[in-house]
Amino acid sequence: MRKFVEKSDFFILLIIISFIFMVWAIMFWYGSKNNQSDTIAVIYKNREIYDKINLTQTEDGFIKINGANVKLQIKDNKIAFVDAVCFDKICENTGFINNTSQIAVCAPEQVAIVITSENKQPINTENEVDAVAR
Ligand SMILES: [Zn+2]
Repeated sequence: MRKFVEKSDFFILLIIISFIFMVWAIMFWYGSKNNQSDTIAVIYKNREIYDKINLTQTEDGFIKINGANVKLQIKDNKIAFVDAVCFDKICENTGFINNTSQIAVCAPEQVAIVITSENKQPINTENEVDAVAR
């Protein structure tokens, strides 16, 4: 009969615990990533959808709108009108937007940005487990 827990037992236990923690951490990280929804900027030109930009995944830069004297800038996952040639400059004064249901409009150039969000398809783990079990 052993009186004390041996060093090797302790190390095995330590490895098991750290392994469980690692798996848990990875699952937690993936879970939080999948629960996020992407912010989408829908750009309208002449009342039609001109482009859709995923603000969550797009890098900073500028977008030119064909047939309109406005430029859009993406910065820090936000979008704004810049270098607008319109007379009222309301669009530029709106500034950077990225909250769902926020709108920036350039009426003279008939360009509008509408922010929406798009939920990613949740991973259906139940079906995966079923498939393995069968
Ligand atoms: Zn404008």
